[in-house]
Amino acid sequence: MSVDPLAPSSHLRILGRIASPSSVNLRDFLTRNGVNYLWLDIDNDPLVRYLGIAKPDEAVLPVCVFPDGTVLEAPTRLDVANRVGLHTKPEHDIYDLTIIGGGPAGLTAAVYGASEGLRTLLIERDALGGQAGTSSRIENYLGFPDGIGGAELTERAILQAQRLGAELIVANSVADAHHTPLGPVPLELTDGSTLETRSAVMATGVAYRRLEAVGANELVGKGVYYGAAPGEERFYEGCDVSVVGGGNSAGQAALNLARLARGVAVVVRADSLAKGMSHYLVERLETTTNIDIYLGSEVTLAEGEDQLERITIRSRASEAETQLDLDALFVLIGGQPHGDYAPGIRRDDKGFMLTGPALMNEPGFADRWPLDRTPYFLETSMSGLLAAGDIRSGAVKRVASAVGDGAMAVQLVHQVLQHAQR
Ligand SMILES: Cc1cc2nc3c(=O)[nH]c(=O)nc-3n(C[C@H](O)[C@H](O)[C@H](O)COP(=O)(O)OP(=O)(O)OC[C@H]3O[C@@H](n4cnc5c(N)ncnc54)[C@H](O)[C@@H]3O)c2cc1C
Repeated sequence: MSVDPLAPSSHLRILGRIASPSSVNLRDFLTRNGVNYLWLDIDNDPLVRYLGIAKPDEAVLPVCVFPDGTVLEAPTRLDVANRVGLHTKPEHDIYDLTIIGGGPAGLTAAVYGASEGLRTLLIERDALGGQAGTSSRIENYLGFPDGIGGAELTERAILQAQRLGAELIVANSVADAHHTPLGPVPLELTDGSTLETRSAVMATGVAYRRLEAVGANELVGKGVYYGAAPGEERFYEGCDVSVVGGGNSAGQAALNLARLARGVAVVVRADSLAKGMSHYLVERLETTTNIDIYLGSEVTLAEGEDQLERITIRSRASEAETQLDLDALFVLIGGQPHGDYAPGIRRDDKGFMLTGPALMNEPGFADRWPLDRTPYFLETSMSGLLAAGDIRSGAVKRVASAVGDGAMAVQLVHQVLQHAQR
């Protein structure tokens, strides 16, 4: 039986190109938000060929065909989120607590904020769960002796936050956070909505750093990718791929890819995996037979006409070079904190948000702090705006510590609100 991909059906259908960045982004967004879809590869899907569907212009890809038959070409995440019924807009004009970022820190703040009677909004740009949500198994989070999948932990946290009354929105973000220390903070969201909040927690984690290999920039989206979403491995069955990076994200991505790829080359600058990766990931990488690990090495060159074809890896000690033919290169080399929406905030030399006691050591800060109390432990240089989780200077980059920060942030929010009323 043949099925017309453009005829109404109960599924969202997406027509696109496997490796194009816009298709990768949309697939990642939908998968992580738990939205089912049927993927049709415009170049290779036999159904597309069989039905003789004309190949749309690259500029309109991906094309989304919704269950009611309507079509959106090259839609934004917000367009798609609204069409598939994800909650994207705040319901109220004013909140006691607004949390920016829906990883473990943000979700915990939402749980505690809502359960303690604060009108609480959480704004997530991509998908709830953050980095932890992309991990196939978190082995060391207290209370789960067999580990727990990141997606399951996220789902449980979402249900808990919603049951307690927190409002969670996705596909939206904060465009700009102005600040008036004596009143509610006005927030403008990227979809144009505005709201006021009496306190805010930044919990937006980190963004990946760029790879400095000759040719890599030109091939981004054409075989070179930043990040590797869970589920992407199904597009690399039987392929040769490489993962650059020595942290937990890189280790997890390599293991995911190794399930279906022919070979995975992991390239790490450090001379030992243990320097940046949890012990359980190191063990699994070292015992997975189709993973090769290049320690003390870096990618110096990425080559290919329209698509990545090969990379050069150089040993930092011996300068010996190895060339590898590849289908894809995933770059996960650590990050810069997300926080551009609040540009005035004081940061450390790596860009992480300074808070509480660390601020008081900053030259000239005490003279400019506007309140008759010192900043609380998680409070940034903007009073009433707290930072929790990986984004905070000095944070231990673990799920448990992000959760701890999220819980502590709400305690401090109560103090911020009490102080503002005096
Ligand atoms: C693959 C992997 C495996 C890991 N395994 C473990 C483990 O086993 N044990 C462990 O303890 N830790 C582990 N970690 C580390 C742990 O996941 C992180 O330390 C933790 O997720 C940090 O939480 P967070 O809430 O601070 O930030 P994140 O998890 O980074 O969440 C930040 C959220 O903010 C959102 N965001 C960013 N910018 C904006 C914006 N402008 N507006 C709105 N939202 C925005 C992001 O989309 C993201 O959802 C792992 C990490 C990875 C990537």
